[in-house]
Amino acid sequence: MDWKNLPKETREMTSFLNLVLDETIELGNEDFVTTYIRCFGVKCHGIIETAMNYELDEVHWRCTKCSKSGVIRNIFGDLKE
Ligand SMILES: [Zn+2]
Repeated sequence: MDWKNLPKETREMTSFLNLVLDETIELGNEDFVTTYIRCFGVKCHGIIETAMNYELDEVHWRCTKCSKSGVIRNIFGDLKE
């Protein structure tokens, strides 16, 4: 798939998730820790908190202000390929 043909929101979300992933792997924390990453929510001034779950091979993230949150799965599986 051509990256440029993806909707703007998808590209922004992918960039956001890559940022979250990089930062969380760098920090390596298993409890939620505040990052420098700003929430992408419209009019939201929250900061993103992230946590690693090594056992499940996941990164969990959430906003400190709004309800946005998510899980990035199979993180090390992707890196090995
Ligand atoms: Zn937010």
